[in-house]
Amino acid sequence: MIIDLRSDTVTKPTPAMMQAMMNAKVGDDVFGEDPSINELEDLAANMFGKEAAIYCPTGTMTNQIAIKTHTQPMDEVIVEKSNHVYFYESGGIAYHSLSSVRLINGDRGRIKPSDISENINPDNIHHPKTRLVVIENTANRGGGSYYQLNEMKALSETAHNNNLKIHLDGARVFNCLVEINVSPKEIGPMFDSVSVCLSKGLGCPVGSVLLGDKSFIASARKYRKVFGGGMRQAGFLAAAGIYALQNNIQRLKEDHKRAKSLAEILNKTGWIESLMAVDTNILIFKLKPEFKAELLVEKLKENNIFCFAIGGNSIRMVTHLDFTDEMLNKFSEIISKIKL
Ligand SMILES: *Cc1c(COP(=O)(O)O)cnc(C)c1O
Repeated sequence: MIIDLRSDTVTKPTPAMMQAMMNAKVGDDVFGEDPSINELEDLAANMFGKEAAIYCPTGTMTNQIAIKTHTQPMDEVIVEKSNHVYFYESGGIAYHSLSSVRLINGDRGRIKPSDISENINPDNIHHPKTRLVVIENTANRGGGSYYQLNEMKALSETAHNNNLKIHLDGARVFNCLVEINVSPKEIGPMFDSVSVCLSKGLGCPVGSVLLGDKSFIASARKYRKVFGGGMRQAGFLAAAGIYALQNNIQRLKEDHKRAKSLAEILNKTGWIESLMAVDTNILIFKLKPEFKAELLVEKLKENNIFCFAIGGNSIRMVTHLDFTDEMLNKFSEIISKIKL
């Protein structure tokens, strides 16, 4: 048995998802003729109360297209310093959008309304024009931390009161929504654009959707083409997305429960110096200095358990659709036998 806790991107389609993919009706999406992609885009847009959507190969692409669509060269984007659009997208904001970033030192990847209002540049020739705020929910490097409904509302109002656009990197937004028990329709209208990954906890092999109003998505469609992301009969992949949005959202709670169980098991080992609160499906913990993260990762690997050391003697584990209770029991058994 292989227990892969490196990321929630490692899931493989279930037989039912595979069946939905096999049965997909497809066409050329660059011509707008793929019925499955059109259906996925309508479904996702409706769920979030947005006018339109566009299907893309990755969440990096949906984020970068969103930023490109909202900004002009010499603009500035306000973003927390550990957020994906800045930290993990290879400098894409500089490369694609010729915009600068104003980095915020947040709390586990989250910012406050005052971080927006206090970081808007004066409108004169010396400064880039502050144009866009990006927030991430749940926050990956924040260990799966999330914003409450009123916090999202306050950020949205602060951005809009200052004539800024606000983009939600909602790669794992459903992990937040099932925890706070809020429907996507309640938060969609707060944001000018929303990116959602289908390839993480929702269990699809590939794909992300970007949501916004009609004119925003029309521009995004042009940028997707120039980014090389215009796909043809990709409806086979979109069908997995439809299946995921219809079947795999509520079950995310199981992933959160199992992540908490992993934390309990690890807490009993005596190896742990600190463990970030497990709010959703991501678990980040730091080992005491006498134990080495790299060594624990190696010993787990010898037992077919995979996870990442993320620096600073810390380890990250992520639960997902393909991590079962049986694996949780096995994990517990193996941990009890490891000597560090
Ligand atoms: C995974 C992730 C993305 C997108 O990643 P891709 O691998 O490009 O699909 C974007 N934002 C966050 C917060 C993520 O965790």
